[in-house]
Amino acid sequence: MPTKAYAASAATSPLAPATIERRAPTPNDVAIEILYCGVCHSDIHQARNEWHNTLYPCVPGHEIIGRVTRVGSSVTRFKAGDLVGVGCLVDSCRTCAHCEQGLEQFCTTMPVFTYNGPDKHSGGHTFGGYSEAVVVHQDFVLRVPAGLDPAAAAPLLCAGITTYSPLRHWKVGPGQKVGVVGLGGLGHMGVKFARAFGAHVVLFTTSAGKVEDGKRLGAHEVVISKDADAMAAHAGSFDFILDTVSADHDINAYMALLKLDGTVCLVGAPENPLAVAAFSVIFPRKHLAGSLIGGLPETQEMLDYCAEHGIACDIEMIDIKDINTAYDRILRSDVKYRFVIDMASLKRG
Ligand code: NAP
Ligand code: ZN
Ligand code: ZN
Repeated sequence: MPTKAYAASAATSPLAPATIERRAPTPNDVAIEILYCGVCHSDIHQARNEWHNTLYPCVPGHEIIGRVTRVGSSVTRFKAGDLVGVGCLVDSCRTCAHCEQGLEQFCTTMPVFTYNGPDKHSGGHTFGGYSEAVVVHQDFVLRVPAGLDPAAAAPLLCAGITTYSPLRHWKVGPGQKVGVVGLGGLGHMGVKFARAFGAHVVLFTTSAGKVEDGKRLGAHEVVISKDADAMAAHAGSFDFILDTVSADHDINAYMALLKLDGTVCLVGAPENPLAVAAFSVIFPRKHLAGSLIGGLPETQEMLDYCAEHGIACDIEMIDIKDINTAYDRILRSDVKYRFVIDMASLKRG
């Protein structure tokens, strides 16, 4: 089925209208009309080949909320008219040890990502949510619980689960001092979740203009990370720090803030390697860790948690024709705090 989309045709090309092909639903597939798609910084890294693996044309977008239009004959969990979500994954092997634990993002034969992954149906590569429709195996479709605003829920599918999962894995909660580095799409959800889980939350930002927002979103304290004295005041005091930064920065400055056995967890994925000073890890016995999105069961758990606790993303809605301007603004850290594309704008042309 020919489907309208926005695509980058090369690393240096802006996104532009394109037509892609979506398969007709097979028995286990769910066909979805896309209503909203969040704009993740990963979309920019991928469209611009900053991870050196991009397949073109590249249709980004993995924070998808849509309405089911058709289901295949074996689909039991969804029906036409349902409001559903699709995140960063559209397939995996289902049988490896990680898939069996619901950690499909770590499928040992490689998960199929929503864009830039191998498409076993077409033989080409997958295309993401900057498009009017998508067809996904029912196992990789999420239920959107009643009570969540569909547009504000879209970024939960990546920014939400990417911050929820490590905070849960490292058991962040009451009595702990937890840092979140960077107040962008991931960071603002990290602050909300860490606060909801009961931790003492400190936001680290390079943007003086985000201090009040940081507090409104749930941080007990906000530190301007360029202020060496303010950083030094927190030395050796953190249990856990979630680093969401998308560009070069000094990780050692955050390692210095951990206490014994504390952890800095990277979720930000800058293009260049980060330099880690050995002594920033070995004294006094610290951990530098990482985390990748979350599996399907945990993503559903996160959506349900958000509905139950009234948590959603702070979004700015855009028309798809403004996507390149939105990318420029994200790169200037000028997003409050996630752009979401109103996909009706693609139909309007
Ligand atoms: P974003 O909205 O652009 O937020 C990143 C924030 O980092 C900015 O708002 C800014 O916050 C801070 N920042 C930017 N440049 C900086 C610099 N040079 N030095 C220090 N701080 C800087 O991006 P996002 O969508 O949240 O994504 C963040 C990163 O996570 C990206 O690299 C993305 O690819 C990655 N990611 C990883 C996963 C995963 O599963 N691990 C999933 C999704 C995204 P302040 O203005 O507050 O300083
Ligand atoms: Zn993402
Ligand atoms: Zn697997």
